[in-house]
Amino acid sequence: MNKNDLITLEITDITNEGFGFGKYNGMAVFVPLTAVGDEIEAKVLKVNKSYAYAKLEKLLLPSPDRIENDCPAFGKCGGCAFRHISYNAELKAKESFVKDAFMKIGGFETENINFLPIEPSDEIERYRNKLEMPVGINESGEMYCGFYAQRSHRIIPVNDCLLQPEIFSEIAWFIVQKAKALKISAYNEERHEGVLRHIFLRKAENKPDGGLCCVIVAKRKVPEFNRLARELSEQFPQITGIVLNINPDKTNVILGEKEILLCGKADITDEMCGVPVEISPKSFYQVNTKTAEKIYRKATEFANPSGKVILDLYCGAGTIGLSMAKNAKKIIGVEIIPEAVENAKANAKRLGVQNAEFICANAGDTATLGISEKPDVILLDPPRKGCDEKTLDFCASLSPARIVMISCNPATAARDCKWLSELGFRVNAVQAFDLFPRTRHVECVVLLSRDK
Ligand code: SAH
Repeated sequence: MNKNDLITLEITDITNEGFGFGKYNGMAVFVPLTAVGDEIEAKVLKVNKSYAYAKLEKLLLPSPDRIENDCPAFGKCGGCAFRHISYNAELKAKESFVKDAFMKIGGFETENINFLPIEPSDEIERYRNKLEMPVGINESGEMYCGFYAQRSHRIIPVNDCLLQPEIFSEIAWFIVQKAKALKISAYNEERHEGVLRHIFLRKAENKPDGGLCCVIVAKRKVPEFNRLARELSEQFPQITGIVLNINPDKTNVILGEKEILLCGKADITDEMCGVPVEISPKSFYQVNTKTAEKIYRKATEFANPSGKVILDLYCGAGTIGLSMAKNAKKIIGVEIIPEAVENAKANAKRLGVQNAEFICANAGDTATLGISEKPDVILLDPPRKGCDEKTLDFCASLSPARIVMISCNPATAARDCKWLSELGFRVNAVQAFDLFPRTRHVECVVLLSRDK
């Protein structure tokens, strides 16, 4: 097989990157934007030793899974991977991503684990409560906003993202228009010059009056932002707070250290599983509130918290642990972001929970800091990179009866479960949750128990 060859191919599987997969003369070929069951003509773009990448040229026989894509940015924007297949086909693919990770990366035998059927999201459009849009300048010198293309920082213009509430697009483009009028320049990442970097919006989902916070991320403070904030709050009375976040660094991290409150208040208040949650712009908060609630309920079922001491590692604003606090003996939360720890303490206070304490620390350092009581159950809800070995060793050394892992990355979840299984824990059950419909991402909840 050579570059630019035209080949015919049947797509037999979807990879966790969202690419269709087929075999041509024994060689694995990956083709984006295809569906299981498609028969296609593809143009070979790149050939490696045992696999190749190709581009869909002609759809010879479409898969029954195919549906009409309704987003003009699909295929260019790095957000959605599955706007061209039915939701059922997407769920089936995601369920197998999780299972495959536990088999191939974790080395588990699937018959030894209870794989529960994937839990769908009730909403597959406009389910997000958070928007992060980079701002750029196009070839004709016009400022615009959009989303990064896959594995790139090229900004694809997006007028109205179908995963976001409509109001978010309206606010984002209003900011861009006003910034232009006020002669605020767009930030250029390569040259590290210009001012306006990102637009960050977050709203309360379950409490409609809980707030909508707008964070404007800029390289430095300019006086025109006060004017922009005034016009923004006049136009959108739903906005309860506008924050100017200063991020002067050459970095991929969106939010900088310094925050200037331009109007209203920075925190919003939502409710999850009956727990009031105060969230500041820097605190992690699940983007699909309704499906996250299903995850928390499953985590509670797996944890069986009644009368137990629960160690909630990577606790964020404390939501999961606090949703179990009523029946538990004690909750100990550990989180690295100080603002999130403050939110967690305030959330516990507002709930009237007295049996919770929160520590600001790196999860792996909890061993050296010491904790007040030995946990019966450990909750692990790490970021995409998973847990480090130090944290897992510490968890195992505490010898809890159960560990409940919540993960947005099946690959690192399977890796970490393998490590825990070598330290005397058994993986009992795994359930996938579609927290991010139409994207390639999938969440999973795992129950591990101590072997003896
Ligand atoms: N359990 C929370 C947050 C989960 S997201 C919820 O459901 O809302 C992961 C969290 O881990 C984030 O809040 C992040 O700030 C935190 N975190 C990342 N690395 C960490 C580390 N090394 N130690 C402790 N917390 C960490």
